[in-house]
Amino acid sequence: MSSRLLRGQVSEIGHAGRRADAVWIKDGKIEAVGGDEVAALAQQHGAVLEDYGSRHISPGFVDPHAHVEVGSVALANHVDLRVPKVTCIDEVLQALSDHTDSSSNWILAQANLFWDLKLRDGRYPTRQELDQVSSSQPIAIRAGGHYSVLNTRALEISGIAEFRGSEGMMGHALIHRDEHGQPTGLVGELDAVLPLPNPTGPELEDTLLQGIGQLFTRYGVTTVGEISETRHGVSALRALAERDALHLRASLYLWVPGAFSLEEACGLPLEWGGPHDDMVRLQGLKVFADGGFSSRNAATLTPYREDVAHSHGSTGHINLSRDRLAAILRAATAANLQLAIHTNGERAQREATDAVVDAFGEAPAGRLRTRLEHAGNYVTSAETIESWQRAGIQISPQPAFLYNFDDFLPEYLGAPGERGRHPFRTLLAAGVRLAGSSDLHLGSELEQTNPLFGVWNCVKRESFLGNDIEVDERIDVAAALEMFTINAAALLGREDELGSITAGKLADIAILERDPATVPVDDLRTLATDEVIVGGRTVHRREAAAAPLRA
Ligand SMILES: [Zn+2]
Repeated sequence: MSSRLLRGQVSEIGHAGRRADAVWIKDGKIEAVGGDEVAALAQQHGAVLEDYGSRHISPGFVDPHAHVEVGSVALANHVDLRVPKVTCIDEVLQALSDHTDSSSNWILAQANLFWDLKLRDGRYPTRQELDQVSSSQPIAIRAGGHYSVLNTRALEISGIAEFRGSEGMMGHALIHRDEHGQPTGLVGELDAVLPLPNPTGPELEDTLLQGIGQLFTRYGVTTVGEISETRHGVSALRALAERDALHLRASLYLWVPGAFSLEEACGLPLEWGGPHDDMVRLQGLKVFADGGFSSRNAATLTPYREDVAHSHGSTGHINLSRDRLAAILRAATAANLQLAIHTNGERAQREATDAVVDAFGEAPAGRLRTRLEHAGNYVTSAETIESWQRAGIQISPQPAFLYNFDDFLPEYLGAPGERGRHPFRTLLAAGVRLAGSSDLHLGSELEQTNPLFGVWNCVKRESFLGNDIEVDERIDVAAALEMFTINAAALLGREDELGSITAGKLADIAILERDPATVPVDDLRTLATDEVIVGGRTVHRREAAAAPLRA
């Protein structure tokens, strides 16, 4: 493999105070980092010089919680109804009408989380409105993955109105009904039981390649923690790695029981064996201990407001009992798998930490250290932070959710929702190590997979509606960048091979047009990634970017 010498301004991440302008890459790894002496040595060994001048040589970004398969499929075959692409129900119906035909095929669409509150009408469309678009084609508008709106045809063929189970795949199942007991079309946590068409095989591989390029590579993301949606997705990623077409490393977290049973997942090989294990490997399991805030199913410490609560005094819904969770943790650990537990609400987080203590006293160490997904997004109590720390748990918050939904927490939770939204400065002061991720899913915001958008959220704290969100919790750019590099790598148990520009690590690099620490805050959102290197190989160059000077 070729040997490269990159010159430019090298990131200090993981090496505070380091001044370096030369990175020598050899055999897919970082051989040495330094100044003129490293450059001289590399050139003596035949490295090809590429001079990026004043551009910034950053570690490739790591996104430890994403749904690449879901997001890629949505990008490929869902009508895009995300605000601000559409702004009101009239525009929604028009956009859907443009996709009708004479078939009986599904019309699928994606919409933002809290779509009802982002649309000018302030509500979801109704089943009857969607029936105006088509009564022969089933329509499903999937608003963020927890809530969907269906037309009558979709309700009929899915049989969902007769669904009598109480458990959805991701939380407490909901079928909204009008005063006559008829479904309104709005259903919660039931997407997994809809008979939706899903690509498989080579079609899915192409869909993933397109999605990865558009959603991740162009933003300098070189590794993800992929929450596997289906077994087809796992196979497709593996197939792409085997034919050397995959430009994104994926540490897989198998969704149990959505994609695999616990027994089956724990019996799978961690690595397939061969040179591609660096690209795709099995890292852990993902389970849901509660639901989402948008569907008022997150298990909270304080009740939801009466006008939105599912029942009087509701504090959301716990899906997995403490005993069950402890049993899953024991099984995962025995199989050498890390457990990532979806816990949106603090009540769910406390139950999960109790389950960890029940199982082991404290969380397994190293790469198996238990993750609490979404913990850190909303924290009202110091006791919650102490409970994570006592159990030795790592938290996995999503800075982009500050933009997506922190406007709306007070509408759901009343006064308690006004304080504790993404309290990153408080968490850092308490000694919590913060990793950032996108949680790309259906209905993500348009910029959600751009790590620098995540950084902007941490630094600026401005919401979708343009409100300042608890600005005393702002953190600086350097701390925010660590969240999407070295700390994110640690969350995946890969800190020794990823997340900083360090000799011996994999040569995953994003060349940024400027140093993010020096640009005006609002420019972070548009700061371009000029080139992306994975395992020492350039996998993307921005069209308008100048090529490095070669010698
Ligand atoms: Zn997720």
